[in-house]
Amino acid sequence: MVMKDIITKAEILIEALPYIRNFCGKTFVIKYGGAAQVKEELKDSFAKDIAMLNFIGIKTTIVHGGGSRISATMEKMGKKPKFIQGQRVTDEETMDIVEMVLGGLVNKEIVSLINNHGGKAVGLSGKDGGLIKAKKKLIKKSSERGIDEVIDIGLVGEVTHIDPHIIISLEKDGFIPVISPVGVGSKGETLNINADYVAASVASALRAEKLIILTDVPGIIDKNNKIISTLKKQQIKKLIGDGTIAGGMLPKVQASLKALEGGVTKTHIVDGRVPHCLLLEIFTKEGIGTEIQA
Ligand code: ADP
Ligand code: MG
Repeated sequence: MVMKDIITKAEILIEALPYIRNFCGKTFVIKYGGAAQVKEELKDSFAKDIAMLNFIGIKTTIVHGGGSRISATMEKMGKKPKFIQGQRVTDEETMDIVEMVLGGLVNKEIVSLINNHGGKAVGLSGKDGGLIKAKKKLIKKSSERGIDEVIDIGLVGEVTHIDPHIIISLEKDGFIPVISPVGVGSKGETLNINADYVAASVASALRAEKLIILTDVPGIIDKNNKIISTLKKQQIKKLIGDGTIAGGMLPKVQASLKALEGGVTKTHIVDGRVPHCLLLEIFTKEGIGTEIQA
């Protein structure tokens, strides 16, 4: 390599200095999902990014999804996955599969990937240490007569309380908590919860510096098909109202708002299909996705 290129490399590394100074010792919560959780090469670059953040002194907590793996396992077992308003209808048998696949398969795979790169990841579900308390989520649907009808989609939950104690204990000793989005109801029942919302609640409970949500689009896209790099909280209502933000982006934006209200400084929606998207978003001026701030 010629000297000029070597010096350029040093300049790229030093561009990260102000960010490292600022974020060392702070907490980031990362929602891990989409292509980054499926493609081998992306899984590995994600795990490397997490290990690196940890060695730099940034405390990371990961909340993962795993919907496609749950559906695949259900089909293997002869059960047909069913969704209402984007949420999985979860009977008791399905809940067992959700818990087995998320906690057993997906969670441990992420833990090993990070540990392969020298991190010290520990898998948790919302049951461990009383981390996630939840209540059954009821879905409303307007009937033709304009009367709201409540639909029961089974053991689907929403977070009522996060006890971050176990995360804080693990972080203190340099461990990286990896959480599967399963909560416990008031009668001890197991509830399946959307990972975007769990990530937001965990970020609020930890007073995290950042909530970063990985997804399979470049960020929030505007009406002209351009990526919006920075958004203020107040701009979001209008973007939802005029239909710019819809579908699978809604829970991400709502989770972001919830996190900001809970005291998180900034939230980011980034393209998990880009290798090392976390490093690019955190340590460069330009960033790659959409950042939302209060
Ligand atoms: P994930 O698996 O990461 O949860 P989802 O499919 O649930 O991803 O959510 C992302 C989807 O949200 C995109 O694929 C896109 O179709 C949709 N979407 C709706 N509005 C927007 C928007 N304004 N910008 C980007 N994506 C949007
Ligand atoms: Mg989704």
